Amino acid sequence: MSKKIIIANLKMHGSSSFYEDLFAQVKSTQKHIAVSDVEIVMCIPYPYLFLAEKFFAHSGISWGSQNVAKDLAGPFTGEVSVTMLTDFASQYAIIGHSERSTAYCESDLNIAEKFKRLKEHNVRPILCVGETFIEREAGMEKKVVQAQLETILSNGSEIFADSVIAYEPIWAIGSDMAASPEQAQNMCSFIKDFIHSEGKQSGNNDQKKIPLKVVYGGSVNEKNTLQLLSLDEVDGALIGRCSLSADKFIQICNLAHQI
Ligand code: PEP
Repeated sequence: MSKKIIIANLKMHGSSSFYEDLFAQVKSTQKHIAVSDVEIVMCIPYPYLFLAEKFFAHSGISWGSQNVAKDLAGPFTGEVSVTMLTDFASQYAIIGHSERSTAYCESDLNIAEKFKRLKEHNVRPILCVGETFIEREAGMEKKVVQAQLETILSNGSEIFADSVIAYEPIWAIGSDMAASPEQAQNMCSFIKDFIHSEGKQSGNNDQKKIPLKVVYGGSVNEKNTLQLLSLDEVDGALIGRCSLSADKFIQICNLAHQI
């Protein structure tokens, strides 16, 4: 089984003292795990990236942002470029989260441009994809996710190398209604198969698979972690609410370590 990755999405929560406390707890209890078989990534609001660098540099724990601008510089009020992220040694950036695509009307094309920009600067994208409840009810979940991936695939399947795709059904986010193990396994497997088959079709290599991770996100907690992360197609989890509690987040990382 490949090394699991546990990603915290802290959204727009916290303060300096909150992050100092959270980072100190995660660092002190997770050091032994982070260097062995679970990768831990803390995706935090921009103003606290400097703190993450201060706490986590050389600890084996990674950090990153929850968005990035598609442009590198210019008159874009309120935006933050990838080079600003790398100034704080960010290794990851979440893009395409449904909370952003809904509230800020982000298009798939926009997300694809951000993905490319991150790759150009060696920041690993954590691309969120997933369907609404109505789309799942209509049996369209694979079609929807495929369309989200296709815009990025227009840059070639190799662009997905070393990136993370988070399957986050929109109905499962913040709802206490996590996907069933079967739903999570099926979609994570579909995503991998689709990207690999596109790679082959475009003549990109014989048998070599593109090294990427596909994780599940949506109401993951300390009770369902073992069940969801034991699935072989699920390479990790994206954690929202439970990352706000150091205790719960650490418990989830420990459970991932047991698998
Ligand atoms: C998220 O918003 O990315 C998420 C997974 O949230 P939660 O864990 O709270 O459902």
